[in-house]
Amino acid sequence: MCACRDLELAIDLGSQPWCNHFLKPADAGSEPFYPLRVVWCTRCKAAQLDFTVKKEILFGDHTYLSGITETLNNHFAKIAQEIDLRYMGTRTSKSVLDIGSNDGTQLKYYKALGYRTLGIESSKSTAAIANANGIETMEAFFNAEVARSLNRKFDVINASGVFFHLEELHSVTDGIRECLEDDGVFVVQFLYMKQIVENLAFDQIYHEHLLYYNLQTIQPLLAQHGLAMFDCYLSPIHGGSIVGLITHAGKRPVSDRLEVMLVDETAAGSNDIATYRRFARAIVQKKEQSLEYLTGQRDQDKRVYGFGAPVKGNTLLNYFGIGPDLIEYLVEKNPLRKGLVSPGMHIPVVLEDEITPPDVYYVLAWNFKDEILRNNRDLIETGVSFYFPVETTFHASSRHWSDRLPRTQSHPGLETERSRGDRRGLKAMQPPESRESAFFS
Ligand SMILES: [Zn+2]
Repeated sequence: MCACRDLELAIDLGSQPWCNHFLKPADAGSEPFYPLRVVWCTRCKAAQLDFTVKKEILFGDHTYLSGITETLNNHFAKIAQEIDLRYMGTRTSKSVLDIGSNDGTQLKYYKALGYRTLGIESSKSTAAIANANGIETMEAFFNAEVARSLNRKFDVINASGVFFHLEELHSVTDGIRECLEDDGVFVVQFLYMKQIVENLAFDQIYHEHLLYYNLQTIQPLLAQHGLAMFDCYLSPIHGGSIVGLITHAGKRPVSDRLEVMLVDETAAGSNDIATYRRFARAIVQKKEQSLEYLTGQRDQDKRVYGFGAPVKGNTLLNYFGIGPDLIEYLVEKNPLRKGLVSPGMHIPVVLEDEITPPDVYYVLAWNFKDEILRNNRDLIETGVSFYFPVETTFHASSRHWSDRLPRTQSHPGLETERSRGDRRGLKAMQPPESRESAFFS
């Protein structure tokens, strides 16, 4: 982030395969492993991985589509409306660039509002889908060079769920400044590390997520490139994402609610190494609890299956060292992973309708506890247990957050965001992993 080399190890999740690398059983064992470690910068306090898996491996041929999930569609529609209403309303000719534009879902909503649109997408097949749907999309990894080759400026630049993935972080950020109109707005969405830590959502740490931003740590990065965040809010997408609004440095005053959140980070020690160390210790505790529980079940000849096969679940399975001897199958609704085994631990994936329920479901989407219990009352009544490897404070924490924002400064969308957040869990299991991965792709 700041080119400082004085980095301290904060969280070590060992050697792990790429968590999206589900394999055919015959290929099991051929997947490469890479270090998965979060380090903390002694100078800028940023949390980041210290090993980069090449972007071409992670994003060159991904198959996720943003447009297939209703939650993301609604979210993207709302973002476009808000940005247009708040910042672009009076302009006669409006343009938007979407970095990591996926299947063009976000741009579709801007186009409907009269914008000239351009998407940049690294996956060939995904870019082709967008183009076929009439959303002009260039197949490339956006960076400063691509930005210069475009030779034009945009009123709005969007980057959803890509800004914490960036191998070419500085080049991309330079490219954004280059392409952003003087009074333009760069809309960035990223997982909020403060929430990850407070929710103990350590399975959000995987190789695709190179950077773990807090507001206090992203500002210095932006400043290096002549940009500044002037407003933001917390959205419940993926258990706590920041929607940040950025423009050229010195162009707009910092909003009250951003100030509040910055102060809150200091109060919570969100950027202190001690906080990350506590987080790391809590993960070790959860690992010990899970292993004790699962070996106990095995010793009693209980059948334990994994509930879901989300991408992030592989961080947990690999770090906890849970293989088919402890969890026989991962039970999915998504047919795309049928017949494959999970990367690293090689647990077979089966579809829900192929199996009879086990004695215990070990829930990999543990952050949706309430909803999962509610949606599976029938199974629970027949005696199936649901084990949650980690207890999360997601609901309490996010409400707490929103409630603390001064009412008058509240974003128009905040109430909707909150109620959607409450509902999203209900949809989360239908199927969970398609929602998760779609946004990260
Ligand atoms: Zn640094």
